[in-house]
Amino acid sequence: MQRLLFVCSIICLFVVAVPVDADNISYIIFNQLAQKYDLKYERDTLTGREIFSGNGYQIIASSGMSTILVNNKLTILEETLKPINGQLAISKKDFSKIDAILRETYTERRITKAKGLLKKVVIDPGHGGDFRGCKSKDGLLEKNINLDIAKRLRNLLEENGVQVVLTRTTDRSLSSNLNEDLLRRAEIANREQPDLFISVHCNWSNDSSVRGFEIYYSPEKNGFPSLNNRAIGAESPSDKQTQKALSHVLRDEYTKKTLEISQMIKKQFRELPTDDRGLRKANFKVLKNTEVPAILVEVDFLSNKKSSQNLAKDSYRQEIAEKIKQTVLSYYLNPSY
Ligand SMILES: [Zn+2]
Repeated sequence: MQRLLFVCSIICLFVVAVPVDADNISYIIFNQLAQKYDLKYERDTLTGREIFSGNGYQIIASSGMSTILVNNKLTILEETLKPINGQLAISKKDFSKIDAILRETYTERRITKAKGLLKKVVIDPGHGGDFRGCKSKDGLLEKNINLDIAKRLRNLLEENGVQVVLTRTTDRSLSSNLNEDLLRRAEIANREQPDLFISVHCNWSNDSSVRGFEIYYSPEKNGFPSLNNRAIGAESPSDKQTQKALSHVLRDEYTKKTLEISQMIKKQFRELPTDDRGLRKANFKVLKNTEVPAILVEVDFLSNKKSSQNLAKDSYRQEIAEKIKQTVLSYYLNPSY
């Protein structure tokens, strides 16, 4: 039901306002803005102020004024508010200005709401210690880039109230045996039971012209999600058959979630100055052995000169972290986004 209501409010944002011309200026009846954001209208008969409120917004406007109060912030208008056919009207230009303010608050509120829905993320900076991963021509090591992006992402998610666990916080491996090292990363995810596991990597190719990001998920899992209270929102059923059926349902749900999040990250990453090498299935150990929604992001190729130059920049690694954060928060607010 909650999801349905949310979809409705998104649709309402696309209501098109119809302008009315007066004194060679295009005006819009203020009520159209109120309708768009589902605001209630009241008129203070003493002061003549028109008050539009609801959904966390309050707009106070008066005919003849060239300022307007939006959520207690004074906004200066280019044209004076005027009555048209007995209704308060705002110029088309000013309408766009107020609309932009309301939209921004709307997005901020969505993010705030998301905070409550996304509780925990495990971030896995690929490689570490003796397992250095790939290396660029000018000596940039994958293990360091992965750790840096992971830490940036951790900070951003923590700022938004999400609990974050890193599989490593320093330049070390989790075991001297590569196979064990990978399995331990998955074990951390299975123990922590996060809403999402993200493994961060950089790519490499013999062909130095190849560049771009790749996002991996594994439709095949070795185990089944544990039926803890958090996952199913109730006591675990005691009979084995029900338990088995529930774990199957949960596993399908996690696969669906993984795919949706991957598609969203891909969409966000397309804004990066590199190629989109798409969404890929892979049976990587860290993906196959994690019993929670899990993705692996290959951010770009260290074998490509331009890409490795970008990855060497703090601002670029921050941008990557920002894009993952934005996607993850948006997804958990509205999975069908
Ligand atoms: Zn790697």
